[in-house]
Amino acid sequence: MRYDIRDKLSRRDAQITVEVDDPAPPGTDVEFVGDVRGEITLRNVGGEIAAWGHLEATALLECGRCLTEHEVPFSFDFSETCRLEQIDEPLSYTQVTADDEPAAIPLLDGDAVDLSELVRQLLVLYTPSRSVCRPDCKGICPQCGKNLNDGPCGCEREEIDPRLAPLRELLQ
Ligand SMILES: [Zn+2]
Ligand SMILES: [Zn+2]
Repeated sequence: MRYDIRDKLSRRDAQITVEVDDPAPPGTDVEFVGDVRGEITLRNVGGEIAAWGHLEATALLECGRCLTEHEVPFSFDFSETCRLEQIDEPLSYTQVTADDEPAAIPLLDGDAVDLSELVRQLLVLYTPSRSVCRPDCKGICPQCGKNLNDGPCGCEREEIDPRLAPLRELLQ
């Protein structure tokens, strides 16, 4: 995600829009299917670079119920503050938390503007953390571990409503 636009962008009020269509940068802890696509606009607002745009990607996530990996497409609009500073160690930048004022994201790799650290942080922020493979996913059997979407497992399942448990004890 390197662009030869450093000189242009160094001038105050310079504004450049670039198209993104690249594999997801490493360091997101998520596997992505296909490229990250979209548009990012960079504007020199004096000292800092305002970055905004729209991105879409497809993550490979585990179903929250049956653990099957499935593709989850998502897209988002964003607005971030960046700086024309070197990306030294991309992976050392900590994830933005609610309490901390997020640091300006570095944009330079040598003489090139490199959007990979910006995109990496955006993907960490916007990738859905939970998902189910389908709305009616039946999950896995807690006893034998079989994926119940493939059919019933044959385990005897005594489902006791926890609210009724005390009553049941009284009746015994
Ligand atoms: Zn599932
Ligand atoms: Zn079972």
